[in-house]
Amino acid sequence: MTDKACRECHLISDGSICPACNASNMSDDFSGIVVIIDPKGSAIARAMKVKEKGHYALRVR
Ligand SMILES: [Zn+2]
Repeated sequence: MTDKACRECHLISDGSICPACNASNMSDDFSGIVVIIDPKGSAIARAMKVKEKGHYALRVR
């Protein structure tokens, strides 16, 4: 798998364009994965300003 993380919103995806914010600013150098299932009920999602459920990288370089 060649997952990449978006530098803009930290969403992890296997494409070269972020499906959440359409940025082509994807990095394969990231660490930490957070799975957001309930963006409205999750304090982590609020802290990361995440509005869509999915896999997110904690840190993207
Ligand atoms: Zn993005």
